[in-house]
Amino acid sequence: MKKLLFMLLVIVAAASACKKEVCENPFYCKWDTPFEVPPFDKIKLDHFKPAFIKGMEEQMAEVNAIINNPEEPTFENTVKAMEYTGELLSKVQRAFGPLNSANTNDSIQALSREMSPLFSKHRDDIALNEKLFERVKSVYENKTKFNLTAEEGKILEDSYLSFIRSGIGLSPEDKDKLRGINQELSLLSVKFGENLLAETNGFTLVIDNEKDLSGLPAGVIAQAAETAKAKALEGKWVFTLKAPSYFPFMTYADNRSLREKLFRGYMMRGNNGNEKDNNEMVAKITKLRVEKAKLLGYSSHADFVLERNMSKEPERVINFLDQIWKAALPVAKEEALAQQEMINKEGGDFKLEPWDWFYYTEKIRKEKYDISDEQTRPYFAVDKVTEGMFYVANKLYGLEFSERTDIPKYHADVKSFEVKREGRHVGILMIDYFPRASKNGGAWCSAMRAQKVDKDGTFVTPLVSMVTNFTPPTGDTPSLLTPEEASTLFHEFGHALHSLLSNTVYSSGVSRDFVELPSQIMEHWVLEPEVLKVYAKHYQTGEVIPDELITKLENAGKFNMGFTTVEYLAASSLDMEYHSLSEPVDINVGEFEKKAMEKYGLISEIIPRYRSTYFSHIFSGGYSSGYYSYIWCEVLDADAYKAFRETGDIFNREVAQRFEKEILSRKGSRDELEMYISFRGKEPGIEALLENRGLIAK
Ligand SMILES: [Zn+2]
Repeated sequence: MKKLLFMLLVIVAAASACKKEVCENPFYCKWDTPFEVPPFDKIKLDHFKPAFIKGMEEQMAEVNAIINNPEEPTFENTVKAMEYTGELLSKVQRAFGPLNSANTNDSIQALSREMSPLFSKHRDDIALNEKLFERVKSVYENKTKFNLTAEEGKILEDSYLSFIRSGIGLSPEDKDKLRGINQELSLLSVKFGENLLAETNGFTLVIDNEKDLSGLPAGVIAQAAETAKAKALEGKWVFTLKAPSYFPFMTYADNRSLREKLFRGYMMRGNNGNEKDNNEMVAKITKLRVEKAKLLGYSSHADFVLERNMSKEPERVINFLDQIWKAALPVAKEEALAQQEMINKEGGDFKLEPWDWFYYTEKIRKEKYDISDEQTRPYFAVDKVTEGMFYVANKLYGLEFSERTDIPKYHADVKSFEVKREGRHVGILMIDYFPRASKNGGAWCSAMRAQKVDKDGTFVTPLVSMVTNFTPPTGDTPSLLTPEEASTLFHEFGHALHSLLSNTVYSSGVSRDFVELPSQIMEHWVLEPEVLKVYAKHYQTGEVIPDELITKLENAGKFNMGFTTVEYLAASSLDMEYHSLSEPVDINVGEFEKKAMEKYGLISEIIPRYRSTYFSHIFSGGYSSGYYSYIWCEVLDADAYKAFRETGDIFNREVAQRFEKEILSRKGSRDELEMYISFRGKEPGIEALLENRGLIAK
């Protein structure tokens, strides 16, 4: 008996030792966390590098197995088989992504720099693999034999074209050249993002004289005092370049020279001639992109990118932007004039400058509409706005959301929700609301695990992560949002719904200039009176937002749209200018930007929403020759929302079901215009957009 017990103990010990050894690196084990969310509490920095390398090796072995398959190439044994390679690699990347973008530090950044050329090489080892291409090409040329579904047909076409676009047809020397460019580009964009984060964190405006706070709302002052305290500057007030600190200061601070100081800090990011300067990155990235495009037989980087977008070619985008520019610029000029008049009336003896714009806009808004963000903030507590968007998703798509506290998170601030429909699990949504030094600026949504059907036929549910940089809570006051922040929350939630409601076999990507349709359509609901009545409740009294305030919000809705449109279009055009270059020339970034803006006739009181050295969308994100996508998609979302409006019911279930079926659920599995027409019955026109922005009379 004793002996048996001993033996059992030995076996148990051996089993657990073995398990322990195998699971020393959590990436090599099946995750027993709820919904297989990455076990962030167990993953250590040291686990990433070996797992990344093993992941790449495994994928190469899988690719080689496909190549060496003695059977004739078929969709099943080649294209479909490729879709299921690299499971480990993507498992590691899914856990690394959120840390790298929203909870980073020097070691994570160093690892990202170290890995980026290796990833680039790995991607090229697959994309430039002749033998693999031969098989894909054979399937592509014989596609009628395989009885493919529409989705499979699209995957096959995407796969075939991606080989061509990756340079499979190039000579061996040119392929080597391309590999070099890809590696350099990937490192440069990592460096661009790192510099920008350092520059954004590096600037602060410290105020020690209370008088200099004149004009600022109490909540903003309290936040600045807390920031000072966190920086061991107790008793002072610190303003930063993070959106919830920067924009209120620019909007309310009476001290003009301090506004100028903060503004210059913001607009000079990456352009200070220090070791974090991004001028060289922009020049090099731009030049390498042209070189790459030329090598691949395109006349510019924009031609290369847009070929696979809904817009297809740069000329269409440029003409489209021009049409809106012509409508918006005169409106912006009128807005500038009105502000100058106010300055003169107040006896200010100066010309309106960009650091005055937000301030005087706010004054005019107050005068004309008697409304300010400070009046509405108490009704926009972040939890209430979150409830509001869940309400909309419930009315439209029948989704239910419940908070889960047992789900591992990459940072303590993250909130997790389980999403269900008719009792069935749909996916997990994580939201990370507030700024911190370890987080990139802006707002984004990403799929930590995309929906798909696994090779064994199991339906894989999505894990979706939303990241924003909203006004943080201070002391006893919860986070109180501006209507614009509330709208951003709905926007990112729209991306989240796109991921949550997708229902495809493969996890195919969506074109850059279509992907903002699901997000931007959600923005239409945020200030609808019917929706406001549900969520916009005073955070102290619980009182529902008064009708009078709703009317004011509505009336002020189209205010300052000249500016909003022009600063956005200026950045879009700057993006198109950089990427329409047809020769790999050395540019002086400052001069290039200046000339481009002069060409469009941008007025001196407005600067582009992003200047070159902090335009991360196009130099470190995936939006190169794609920043136009937001307004391109606005044509679609304005028209699509009309489909709800026309029924007299903004929650019309039939329209919502059609939107889900034809657009959300399909992801990138079909041509975009086809999807849109299946939903709407016709192509969209530009009028709804211009009307919504108040740029033409209704
Ligand atoms: Zn978006």
